[in-house]
Amino acid sequence: MTNYKELADLLFPNIDKAPQFYEELYPPRDLKEGARVTRFAPSPTGFLHLGNLFTCTVAYKTARATDGVFYVRVEDTDQKRKVDGAVEIMLEGLKSFGITADEGVMIDGSQKGIYAPYVQSQRKEIYQTYAKALVEQGLAYPCFCSAEELEEIRAQQENEDTKGYYGKYARCRNLTLDEIKKSIAQGKSWTLRLKSPGDIEKKCYFDDMIKGKIEMPENTIDVVLLKTDGIPTYHFAHVIDDHLMHTTHVIRGDEWIASVPLHLQLFRCLGFKPVKYAHVAPLMKEENGNKRKLSKRKDPELAVTYYRQEGFPAQAVNEYMMTIMNSNFEDWRRVNKDADINSFPFNLKKMSVSGALFDLVKLTDVSKNVISQMSAEEVFELSNQWAEEYNEELAKLYGKDKAYATAVLNIDRGNKKPRKDIAKWSDIPDYISYMYDETFKENYDLTGNATPQLAAEVLRLYKDVVDISDDKDSWFNKIKAICEPVGCTPNVKEYKQNPDAFKGHVGDVSTVIRVALTGRTNTPDLYAITALLGEDRVKNRIENAIKHYEEVK
Ligand code: GLU
Repeated sequence: MTNYKELADLLFPNIDKAPQFYEELYPPRDLKEGARVTRFAPSPTGFLHLGNLFTCTVAYKTARATDGVFYVRVEDTDQKRKVDGAVEIMLEGLKSFGITADEGVMIDGSQKGIYAPYVQSQRKEIYQTYAKALVEQGLAYPCFCSAEELEEIRAQQENEDTKGYYGKYARCRNLTLDEIKKSIAQGKSWTLRLKSPGDIEKKCYFDDMIKGKIEMPENTIDVVLLKTDGIPTYHFAHVIDDHLMHTTHVIRGDEWIASVPLHLQLFRCLGFKPVKYAHVAPLMKEENGNKRKLSKRKDPELAVTYYRQEGFPAQAVNEYMMTIMNSNFEDWRRVNKDADINSFPFNLKKMSVSGALFDLVKLTDVSKNVISQMSAEEVFELSNQWAEEYNEELAKLYGKDKAYATAVLNIDRGNKKPRKDIAKWSDIPDYISYMYDETFKENYDLTGNATPQLAAEVLRLYKDVVDISDDKDSWFNKIKAICEPVGCTPNVKEYKQNPDAFKGHVGDVSTVIRVALTGRTNTPDLYAITALLGEDRVKNRIENAIKHYEEVK
């Protein structure tokens, strides 16, 4: 059958443009040498998982590190899976991790940039124009096979290495124009298939930016380019869109790597210069000594919403993601402690080939570190935002007195070796609970040499001397002064040299006071806590503790 032009007009009577029109409409980008154009291309299915965020961060960093462009394109060709509002939710999610697009679909639903539309369902005519051109060149043809017929073909292929629509199985590949006309006149629906020029004996070579040199057999399958409703498949839309939008690097999940021979073939058939690929391996988790993919079903930490709900600051998640993204990041961070994360020279070539190990325990450590270096004001602001969304009780406590809350969060902050008590905002209610009467829980368990009897004696003396306005030295001197009258020593060394001579030492005396005031044996600076709690609370808690210890004595 040679009259491809007639076939093209028969299949696409309403397409009156040629590819040239779009080639001129979407001119090359004017960017400096080496600038990379990357994109995030979500399907609007409503769930942003950590893998998406990770891959998207790689694309974003790649563009940023080269003064390139990062854009968002919505891939909504599968209308059945489409969830309303999903794109906005995904883009909001990305924004909370500091990722915003230069171009494409924006959070408010608008589209920015001259390569618009950036929503695939609005690009039907563009795909059909290129499809028509392929038909004209004899590189694509309509296929009338029904689902049953395709099922039949599959059944016949049980023993074939290569499965799919190709060679002798491609029943519609060589239909005559008359046969096609007849089927169309009968109203049969059709898909458009690529007439693959691939040769199974030949190899396709490409250099993946992450995985390195790869060799696979050429594609020989006559894949579907347009579905029966004229909507393109992912493969066809990917090639056309990334060509017309002048993407330089397609950074995507490695579930697509097996399709690269097909994609490169499509670039060639369409006469386009191929993009470069970087396939990101899925995030892994270690479990009982084995590595496995993070799973939507088993691992709540795969959902990006998990981090928001738990209150991990985005900065910490970003910082941790970078450590598993580029192996040299931690060294860079040690040298550039305060530098903006975006100034790290991100490199695709330093990514893990087999999948980065995502470890919540390590994230927790990174997060503690990040939070320990924030100012109290920042901790207050961010945790307050979190509380307003996820923890009404904390929001209420904060709301009573912002200055008090900030002062509480400021205890021990700014020290040379800041404490690392908070890994996520949801740790805060417990961390500050004893600073509020509403949440303070009495607990009079003691450690070290402190006994209830000693505790009662210490507290009776302390109650009479405690003065909230004392400076730190006078405060501590008073505690030391209590030691001797109760049979302890203010000198820990002395105690260690001769433990039998004393009931305890100044550390034990402090523990008694700490437990009475906070219900805990380990807290940040007790002096700061005492001063902030204020006279009434301090006296009250000491009296209650005395009562308790006198009863159990
Ligand atoms: N819409 C595709 C997906 O969500 C995008 C793959 C790509 O980045 O090309 O898997």
